[in-house]
Amino acid sequence: MDKKTYVVEMENVKKSIGKKVILKGINLRVKRGVVHVIAGPNGAGKTTTLRVMLGLLRADEGKIEVLGTDPKSPQWTKTRELIGYLPEDAGVYERLTGIENLYYYAMLYTRGNKRRAWKLVERGIKISGLSKEALSKRAGGYSKGMKRRLLLARTLMHEPLLAVLDEPTSGLDVRSAIEVRKLIRSLAERGSTFIITTHNLLEAQYIADYVSFIDKGKVVCTCSVAEALESFGADNLEEAFVKATGGMEK
Ligand code: ADP
Ligand code: MG
Repeated sequence: MDKKTYVVEMENVKKSIGKKVILKGINLRVKRGVVHVIAGPNGAGKTTTLRVMLGLLRADEGKIEVLGTDPKSPQWTKTRELIGYLPEDAGVYERLTGIENLYYYAMLYTRGNKRRAWKLVERGIKISGLSKEALSKRAGGYSKGMKRRLLLARTLMHEPLLAVLDEPTSGLDVRSAIEVRKLIRSLAERGSTFIITTHNLLEAQYIADYVSFIDKGKVVCTCSVAEALESFGADNLEEAFVKATGGMEK
């Protein structure tokens, strides 16, 4: 397959912090234009994988290319602008209104071009699905679900080629989580690539085109959801994950 088919390629990427080996040789390839979910339990190494992928943490070993660029290279600053990243601990500016939150980021994305920034804000408003009334109130008073929608809008309003979302639904109640999943699926139909982590295998089944199971610092397998179910003879991805990682913990 043509190399350019992949927006992310990680080969044997290792990372230790102090004496703790966190990534034990991550192999991951993400195809252009798909929703690729990295699924695994808490502590598996999902967040660290993303941080290393985006050059926020330096890998100890291995090869990384994102949109054809090594995060260590000088070209990375330019490539980074094509990527929308929502860290797992991201928060809104509580004292600013929803609109002001979007505008603040839009001004960063456009380097202070007010006219272009407002265009992004308009797109952000649509993505958020929040009412104009809600958006004119301080974000500090929003529910968790509303805050998450605002964060997603902030991350995606400049239509990044690659969106990287770390546990975008964690901590949300069932209804808000469903809303956020639907939003992600509908945005994905427009052709950007999404890399999303989750510890919720059933969520992975719903939003993923491709899934990588990660466990104890290693990617155990990568395939389409249908292939995962078939090759592990599983009814759902939770069952497939348990089979792929050698059964239940004793
Ligand atoms: P996940 O996102 O899958 O829950 P993480 O990548 O956050 O997993 O963490 C993987 C493992 O690495 C966990 O055991 C975590 O405690 C450990 N870890 C992550 N960051 C650090 C750090 N800065 N210092 C020490 N240990 C860390
Ligand atoms: Mg995490």
